[in-house]
Amino acid sequence: MPLRVVETIDEVRASLAARRDSGAIGLVPTMGALHAGHASLIERARAECATVVVSIFVNPLQFDRADDLARYPRPLRADLSLCEQSGTDVVFAPAPEEIYPEPPDVTVHVGETAKHLCGAFRPGHFDGVATVVLKLFTIVQPDIAYFGEKDAQQLAIIRRMVADLNLPLKITPVATVREADGLALSSRNQHLNAAERALAPALFRALAAAKEAVAAGAGDAETVKRGAAATIPADERLRLEYLELVDPRTFQPVQRVTGAVVAAGALWVGTTRLIDNVLCTPP
Ligand code: AMP
Repeated sequence: MPLRVVETIDEVRASLAARRDSGAIGLVPTMGALHAGHASLIERARAECATVVVSIFVNPLQFDRADDLARYPRPLRADLSLCEQSGTDVVFAPAPEEIYPEPPDVTVHVGETAKHLCGAFRPGHFDGVATVVLKLFTIVQPDIAYFGEKDAQQLAIIRRMVADLNLPLKITPVATVREADGLALSSRNQHLNAAERALAPALFRALAAAKEAVAAGAGDAETVKRGAAATIPADERLRLEYLELVDPRTFQPVQRVTGAVVAAGALWVGTTRLIDNVLCTPP
């Protein structure tokens, strides 16, 4: 079946109406500028679902900085070709006015799960994410939606939204796809120049150091965090925004490591903000 590209809510609903009886519908929400990380979500959906829908929408509601929204890459032609190669049936690529014909007056508010890490540094970000994801869920009505562990706080929030609002679908997490040197694939990596690209794996290395310390039995979160942050080279282009150990479900910071924790960090490399996380398990 050739790839179908639709831009309106009516079209996406019409194109899925005939397919609902033939098996599960899988949704992969994205903001485009697709890479092998996104492809891994699409391929997982392809393996599990009769119909695979990829949404490509740069959601203005979740951007806290106008410059970040303005420079977010939008290579639609290349994205469609990656979607086709990864086995997508329907791409939903709406214009902002299709999703927000007027500024929304009713939105989703995320509480404690959004309080720390990215939520603390990007005001309103996760409310914007949860609102658009809920809209995509009601537009596409998928049986399964796929989210990357790369954005672990986002994944925890979506899971909590599905539980709290009784949304009738399953959330499937997909492991982070990385470059050979550990850098997590991200649409924002293309903003890095060669020198910044060489510095960028510092974030993953710091998180890997935290993982190693926890695996070796370190129990004091402050000590683990300090040791991990100390691995980041002193370079004026690098600025650590946060490095935290949090509970994997609630995303609240922990003081003592008594079970599995997520080590999560945000690192500015020049003018580009990168995030990453790893699961740390005590011995
Ligand atoms: P984005 O387009 O950045 O909003 O990402 C769309 C989806 O792809 C989200 O569920 C992300 O967590 C996921 N994703 C982004 N980068 C990666 C990666 N390197 N590995 C796995 N999933 C990813």
